[in-house]
Amino acid sequence: PIQLSNTKYNVLIGSQLLQQAGALITPILSQKKVFIIADENVAALHLQTLTNSLNIAQIDFETILIPPGENTKSFKYFEQVINQLLEKNVERKTPIIALGGGVTGDLSGFAAATVLRGVPFIQIPTTLLSQVDSSVGGKTGINTHTGKNLVGAFYQPQIVIADTHTLNTLPQRELVAGYAEIVKAGLIDDSELFEWCEQYSQKILSKDHQYLDEAVERACAFKARIIKNDEFEQNSKGRNLLNLGHSLGHTLEAELGYDGRILHGEAVALGCCLIFKLCTQLGICPKEDTDRVLRHFQSVALPTSIKDIDTPLKASNLLQHLQHDKKVKDGKLLFILVNGIGKTFTSQDVNEKDLLELLINDGCV
Ligand code: NAD
Ligand code: ZN
Repeated sequence: PIQLSNTKYNVLIGSQLLQQAGALITPILSQKKVFIIADENVAALHLQTLTNSLNIAQIDFETILIPPGENTKSFKYFEQVINQLLEKNVERKTPIIALGGGVTGDLSGFAAATVLRGVPFIQIPTTLLSQVDSSVGGKTGINTHTGKNLVGAFYQPQIVIADTHTLNTLPQRELVAGYAEIVKAGLIDDSELFEWCEQYSQKILSKDHQYLDEAVERACAFKARIIKNDEFEQNSKGRNLLNLGHSLGHTLEAELGYDGRILHGEAVALGCCLIFKLCTQLGICPKEDTDRVLRHFQSVALPTSIKDIDTPLKASNLLQHLQHDKKVKDGKLLFILVNGIGKTFTSQDVNEKDLLELLINDGCV
């Protein structure tokens, strides 16, 4: 359960839930009609299972397909989705189901938050990243040419159905990228989760469902705990901390483009490594902790250094992207820093000189 100040919803986690989705959502429907939004890849693999379950539960549906990829989280596709919803006569009580990864969830959630000033929203995440992170917590939105997730809304789903069986079709690179967000959770304030990841990463990433399902559950429980006390990201010791590695991660994504050269989770892994290195450089995080984090990400083939990126990256460009990140307060960059594994805090005191030194030492030009 996710308990927030004026709403509560369940995150269901397990194998073979998609084929029961119709029955699982029936109690929350006030009319027997839904809209499904899915990207074309996911639709080819999993839409039929969902629609069969809706047919069995006698729920009508309309489907809206979107192209796969980060570029779909844009004004252009937001407008297209909204227009299709309105042309197909969406009503105030017709739920929108997002079937897919974080891109589909973020775009569909933002459409659900805004069309007719809000219709019910259901998340059926099908990537590891979306099951452990983006489908839970209510952040929805799109990217603009200035940066990621800069337009959006807090809008909670009414239920999240995370069928870990759908991950069996997910490309391994996407699975590993999603795993980075689980490790990030451990690094933030759950060193026991990090240790558990060190122990069982191979089982999780070989899709041993006993461990994979537990990983999703642990990461969702962690996220539930954080957002419970800070639904709207207003507390410096709350939701903000979930952005560990993300300011730098987002700048890497912006600089490299959203065409698959770096995946969000890969950028987050590298972003976390850069923060640990920065904090060791600043003398506030033991080098053993930083080495341990790098070792773990390396062991699952996630990038841990700018040198792991094939494209030469300019430190000055990265610093410029940082200025567009949402995490700027009073003109100063807001960073999540670490005193060690599981010990994070927010700081406004990182200066450009230290960042430049970090980036140059790490392989930027
Ligand atoms: P994604 O939605 O682009 O999915 C990755 C790829 O996997 C796509 O090509 C998709 O078609 C394919 N795919 C999805 N499910 C599949 C399956 N079961 N089998 C085979 N292929 C499948 O990417 P993502 O990594 O899920 O999400 C990344 C997005 O999530 C980013 O835009 C990021 O900003 C956002 N995000 C949001 C939050 C939040 O709180 N809202 C948190 C973290 C990340
Ligand atoms: Zn993320």
